[in-house]
Amino acid sequence: MTTILDGKALARQLRGKVKDEVTQLRAAGHRAPHLAAILVGEDGASQTYVNSKEKDCEYVGFESSVYKRSADTSEESLLDLINTINKNEQIDGLIVQLPVPKHINATKIIESIDPDIDVDGFHTLNVGKLSINEDTYISATPFGVIMMLEEYGVETKGKHCVVIGRSNIVGRPMSILMSQSGRDATVTVCHRHTPDVGTYTRNADIVIVAVGIPEFLKPDMVKEGATIIDVGITRVDADNKRGYLLKGDVEYETVKEKCGAITPVPGGVGPMTRYGLLHNTLKSYKKKLNL
Ligand code: NAD
Repeated sequence: MTTILDGKALARQLRGKVKDEVTQLRAAGHRAPHLAAILVGEDGASQTYVNSKEKDCEYVGFESSVYKRSADTSEESLLDLINTINKNEQIDGLIVQLPVPKHINATKIIESIDPDIDVDGFHTLNVGKLSINEDTYISATPFGVIMMLEEYGVETKGKHCVVIGRSNIVGRPMSILMSQSGRDATVTVCHRHTPDVGTYTRNADIVIVAVGIPEFLKPDMVKEGATIIDVGITRVDADNKRGYLLKGDVEYETVKEKCGAITPVPGGVGPMTRYGLLHNTLKSYKKKLNL
């Protein structure tokens, strides 16, 4: 029997705990945690992501602010805005929704965020801390995956984990986290220049796929009983009301028959990522208020 790693249900449960904690903090006379987001331009997917982050904040009792700027906003004015938010003691978390338009240097923008409120965990200081296993903000998606593995009791110690993808926001931190002391997996990282990825995944106890290619992982690439974590989300044209379907990086229906546990798309890693951001914002808030 394959276990479906239900990120939607788990995230709902974890969000409920955050909501209860915020209720108690407010009853004790503390202000609400506050997440700020900067959204540049009109990208539809980015707007959807920011809207859902606002909705999540509202649900758990966080305050949220969205600073919308037009696509032609200058890098300098964005840096000014970030500087102002950095100084605002009432704001616990700041995220800049990526991608930003081409004339803006994304690295410079991320580096200008105060690492203490960088709840996306993208600042080099936080990435550095992660790589030496120091307490930091683990970026939301890898954090969500780790939580899911822990909550479902997936054994990682001594297991072979193959991470497919090496991006700064998913694959790279994921591979570091899985090999860290405490998780103790043996990690192989595959990427676009890896010939025959299946050679590696067929020997893996855990496969974490983050490539952005719909149905990339096929059943003949998977070991019987393995745990499969599908991070991919791609919009694929479809004849439905929305005009698209969300597809993961795993050929779900066929891989499900062979593996031991699997995350669906949607309803797997996505909701856990949203929870990750709430977790990090609450963490920053508690640090600020010495709670
Ligand atoms: P990215 O484009 O930055 O990185 C993709 C990685 O895949 C690269 O490291 C590349 O080397 C590797 N790759 C590409 N083709 C490959 C191939 N043929 N074989 C092996 N490796 C290959 O993407 P990303 O930001 O890491 O995101 C990956 C996917 O995860 C996307 O679909 C994205 O939408 C999704 N995502 C989902 C969440 C979530 O909350 N569920 C969060 C972030 C990203």
